Amino acid sequence: MKTQSLPSARAWLVCLLIGVLISGAGLHAAERFDLVINGGRVIDPASDTQAVRHIGVAAGVIEAVSDKPLRGNVEIDAHGLIVAPGFIDLHAHGQDAENYQLKALDGVTTALELEVGVGDLDDWYAQRAGKSLINYGASAGHLAARMRVFGSVDKFLPDGDAAHNPADESQIQQIRRHVEAGLQRGALAVGLGIQYTPGASRWEILEMFRAAAKYNANCHVHIRHAGEQESQSAIAALEEVLAASVITGAPLHVVHVSSMGLRGTPRLLQMIREARTRGTDVTTECYPYTASLTAIESAVFDDGWQQSLGIGYGDLQWVDTGERLTAETFARYRKSGGMVIAHSMPEAMVRETVIDPLTMIASDGLLRNGKGHPRSSGTYSRVLGRYVREQQAMSLTEAIRKMTVMPAERLAPRVPAMKKKGRLSVGADADIVVFDVQRVSDQATYEAPAKPSTGIVHVLVAGTPAVKDGRLVEGVAPGRPIRAPLP
Ligand SMILES: [Zn+2]
Repeated sequence: MKTQSLPSARAWLVCLLIGVLISGAGLHAAERFDLVINGGRVIDPASDTQAVRHIGVAAGVIEAVSDKPLRGNVEIDAHGLIVAPGFIDLHAHGQDAENYQLKALDGVTTALELEVGVGDLDDWYAQRAGKSLINYGASAGHLAARMRVFGSVDKFLPDGDAAHNPADESQIQQIRRHVEAGLQRGALAVGLGIQYTPGASRWEILEMFRAAAKYNANCHVHIRHAGEQESQSAIAALEEVLAASVITGAPLHVVHVSSMGLRGTPRLLQMIREARTRGTDVTTECYPYTASLTAIESAVFDDGWQQSLGIGYGDLQWVDTGERLTAETFARYRKSGGMVIAHSMPEAMVRETVIDPLTMIASDGLLRNGKGHPRSSGTYSRVLGRYVREQQAMSLTEAIRKMTVMPAERLAPRVPAMKKKGRLSVGADADIVVFDVQRVSDQATYEAPAKPSTGIVHVLVAGTPAVKDGRLVEGVAPGRPIRAPLP
């Protein structure tokens, strides 16, 4: 403050008073942000913050986290609400407007397709540029690469030769080259769905891990088997990829651990915990539902599925009609193809897995024209409403950690952009969710999977409101590509 032009004692006093007022109002009193969120209870597991704080956003970035209210061109009053980093979904197959809208209404600000992944990275990112409600990104998919080498149409999941035929050495190298091409174009990770490619040898899988290791990329893996039946058990399948990670050095992320382990999931979690204590870089995720969903024509339903999954025809539910299947309808639909829900997991195991400190929350969601699995729309609100509020099975901070900083840190070594996500601190991207902890709950059901969650009040993506007062904001596309640095 300049003082030479203030000669009198009275002027000095005025000056002093102004100074006190400014410092009392905090550093940012004179500042006006693009947007502020005032009065909410900020929960930021990364900085161990759980307190009423006021957040100032400018140019898509958090510029202030203050204990004093802030001024902004847009001011959101969050009194009585929780303010958290936007949720990061590491397993989001639905990568279009329909899915992004429902995910935003579930608090998700970043949806990544890392398990199945994609074939042509440049094309995939170009299709979404400037059009997406939330942030998006993908891995280089082993399934897509294998379908390409076996000359099959580029379906979501392989069938026929691309699923069942072994690849010879030259085909394995072609598949690996496709995967490496994706990594060179900024793929976030390598995605593998080994259960969908029973023809893929262990050597072929090792080659994909070697490709990932070369680019400092994780392998996000749907393991080779589900259930407890030996010798094709989830335990054997987990051993395969733990070994691949140790041999090659590629970090391993085991997707939807509960739909692979089924009743035996605690054993898979124990194996992962033990491997971590020995220095293996392995993590895992789950969704909070007792049923899975996949394509009925896929290898998951090859002969023996009843034994390995421990279920029968009546536990399968046809997505298009909601009907439960019989031997006859199963045979018919397996020929025509389509999505089927498998009710295969005990609730107690699902709860134990969701609250286990090891697991991140990830949806595995995919809706098409409103049909699919409720996890697409309700995963995050279901964890917050059912397991945190209703059952008090874990703390709110723990749940938010599993949805934010844990997934962000998993990708950060290869993807520096993720260091600015999953946290509410100065310099972080302004991807923020504001929700009512008393009301947040999933509404989607197996019969009505596209019902939006309730209680998610505001969602910001890069500082731009995507959800306001519980409703989608029309005509905005603030979602940005998340991509590993290009060479
Ligand atoms: Zn899967």
